Amino acid sequence: MKKKIVIANWKMNHDFHETTSFLRNLLKKIFEQKINHNKEIIIAPSFPFLHISNHILQGSPLKIAAQNIHQMDKGSYTGEVSASMLKSIGISKVILGHSERRKFFCEKNNILLEKIKIALKYGFNIIFCIGETYFERNKNQQFNVIKDQLKHTVFHFSENEIKFFHIAYEPIWAIGTGKSATYQQAQKMHEFIRSLFLKKYGENISNKISILYGGSINNFNAKDFFLQKDIDGGLIGNFSLNLENFLKIIYS
Ligand code: PEP
Repeated sequence: MKKKIVIANWKMNHDFHETTSFLRNLLKKIFEQKINHNKEIIIAPSFPFLHISNHILQGSPLKIAAQNIHQMDKGSYTGEVSASMLKSIGISKVILGHSERRKFFCEKNNILLEKIKIALKYGFNIIFCIGETYFERNKNQQFNVIKDQLKHTVFHFSENEIKFFHIAYEPIWAIGTGKSATYQQAQKMHEFIRSLFLKKYGENISNKISILYGGSINNFNAKDFFLQKDIDGGLIGNFSLNLENFLKIIYS
């Protein structure tokens, strides 16, 4: 059976002290509790703390991911961070396509395609986010929207490259709103996404690809999501910022 994956997306939260003490305490609690949570745990802190975070988690099964990379290899892009820079400090996972990047930083499919290419060039694992707006769901367009997002990004890549992806289905109306999708809505969409992978890449890949749900997961509803057949874990925002809450999600 596939291990469930729990990813903490800290966004622009937690300073140096908060980041390092969270990670040290997380390791300590997991070690002390000795309960088999059977989950792969990935934390995505801010850029300035990736190096120290990676250092703290070294030798543990917990992993660090970046929240973004620039689409170019190097050059005059003031304020940006490249895949090769991250690789040089031992980071090999990245979240791409998050709806906040799409909305606030105008990351359209063509830019995301370039980001995916550079991430793959440096051997990154990619957590690729897709999701529909409230308006689109209200008009019952969610399945077409998701199909389209995949068609113009992830589905450009070969079977060999797809092995580097996790997909995160994150309905935009559920992110940071406290109003999650129901686990039934999420399961239905995840089943649909898996069927698209089946059509495009065949059974082996569609069975293997991890499809995570994100959008107001908390310590009360996490278990219901994780029990669903096609939900392979969660991408957690708000409820990953507090250690006790995050631990409860890990042990859901
Ligand atoms: C996210 O931003 O990826 C997310 C899922 O946030 P939240 O859990 O706060 O809805």
